[in-house]
Amino acid sequence: MSTPMYAVGVVFALVALATVLATPFLIVHSRSPYDHGPDCWWCHPRLLPRKRR
Ligand SMILES: [Zn+2]
Repeated sequence: MSTPMYAVGVVFALVALATVLATPFLIVHSRSPYDHGPDCWWCHPRLLPRKRR
C-alpha cells in the first residue's frame, strides 16, 4: 500500500470513528427536552462569531 492511500485510509478511519462515537451523544442531546443553557457548545456553536445585541 502506498503512502497516500495509507494516509487517506487513516483519515477515513478517524472520521468514521468520530462519527460512531458522536452519534449516541447527538441522539441523547436531541431527545433532551430542556434547554442546555448558553454554555452548551452544541446548541450555541462557538465556531462562528456571535453577534451581540
Ligand atoms: Zn445543547
